[in-house]
Amino acid sequence: MHPTVAALAALLVISVAAPDASAQRRTPRPSAQPTNVVYFITDGFGPASVTFAREYMQATTGRRNLAFDPYLVGALQTWATDSRVTDSAAGGTALATGHKTYNGAIAVDTAGRALATLLEAAQDRGMATGVVVTSRITHATPACFTAHVGSRAEEDEIARQQMRLAPDVMMGGGLRHFLPADVAPGRRRDGLNLLDSLRAKGFTVATDRAGFDRATRAPFVGLFAADHMAYDVDRDAAREPSLEEMTEKALAMLQGRSPRGFFLMVEASRIDHAAHGNDAAAHLFDILAYERAFQAALDFQRTHPGTLVVATSDHETGGLTLGRNLDGVGRYYWHPEVFRSEQASYDVLLPALRTAIQTDTTGAAALAVLANRMGLYNLSEAERADLVAALRRQPGRVQGLVTEAIARRATIQWTTGGHTAVDVNVYAAGPGADRFRGNRPNDAMGRTVAQLLGLDLDALTTRLRRTTPVYPRGAGE
Ligand SMILES: [Mg+2]
Ligand SMILES: [Zn+2]
Repeated sequence: MHPTVAALAALLVISVAAPDASAQRRTPRPSAQPTNVVYFITDGFGPASVTFAREYMQATTGRRNLAFDPYLVGALQTWATDSRVTDSAAGGTALATGHKTYNGAIAVDTAGRALATLLEAAQDRGMATGVVVTSRITHATPACFTAHVGSRAEEDEIARQQMRLAPDVMMGGGLRHFLPADVAPGRRRDGLNLLDSLRAKGFTVATDRAGFDRATRAPFVGLFAADHMAYDVDRDAAREPSLEEMTEKALAMLQGRSPRGFFLMVEASRIDHAAHGNDAAAHLFDILAYERAFQAALDFQRTHPGTLVVATSDHETGGLTLGRNLDGVGRYYWHPEVFRSEQASYDVLLPALRTAIQTDTTGAAALAVLANRMGLYNLSEAERADLVAALRRQPGRVQGLVTEAIARRATIQWTTGGHTAVDVNVYAAGPGADRFRGNRPNDAMGRTVAQLLGLDLDALTTRLRRTTPVYPRGAGE
């Protein structure tokens, strides 16, 4: 035997035989089986956006890392069954059920049959459950945990199924899908008042900040906007709670509610919406709002070590690049500090520009809005002329011109107003965190969470299909 190999073999024999070593192996380690799971989904958040937020934070604070940076464990491939570029419905279905499906599908397979979700299986097992989002709660991602339909567009039906499933905690926007058309801001055409149905089930219902502040116990539903909640950069704290506050309240309400623990899904929904609009400030500040919610979950974990905190994204949105060609030359720098002066999303900025050009057709008032709200005080003559001309005669061009003015100054670029196929990061902290390692397809993520909680999704799927139809695909997304 080669001397080195012999030495190694001897070492192995000693380590196997040594009573100390085997005792160590039997010593109960912290259980790899979590009692609670907090499952974060950052919609439309790819690796470039992680760097974007981190380098902004480094440029503006003394911190070096985002709260989730130390917990990076792997990556996911996000493709859907019918396209290499997924939407949030197919992506959410993979993350919620452990099965890939077609774009537009809400927790149904490619044949339209129901797929049991982690939240349903957790509830079925007697765990407490919760959903916290910043979009309409009927939007694709939360729907994939709480409903089954062939098309993500069926939001009234999704709300009805959410009422029937009744997770212990539901928070977000989307009030319009829970109220009949004759009760503002209701839009339902079937006349159902789902908030009354939830009250009849014992739920406390809140639709404003005061109701949120008063609420202390599950079951609780808080819907704080008719449509999506505000971007964090625009959020009026007197009207809407932050994602961090909602996460903290959900954790407090779910903790101890069941001896079997809880499953909480938290979505930072609007990172994606901002990226669709190439709205860098709204994107950035929603990422930082998410970071605070992630930190809140880590803080909870410190006192409740049986809690697994996992986080991933359904896909990347916007095709953001940091560094770009400027005037034909690739630039090896970018300037995150540009965003220090940005104080509004396009949801607020564009209406303000419209009002400004109506009251002052010279464009001076509109240019003042761009200087004061977005830090665009140093526009070139050509940029000013383009913007004022567009504001006067081609309002559809304004958003693109503002985006380019900001992007030139920051030396960044968006390459699409849609989703991309790039892999997304996976983060995990707590019992079972090592099970998320490596680069895997996104359906593996849903299955790993199920295994860690001991949930049998296949058995529940079989039961669900006895009472649910084959759901038809919608007209397309
Ligand atoms: Mg979403
Ligand atoms: Zn999207």
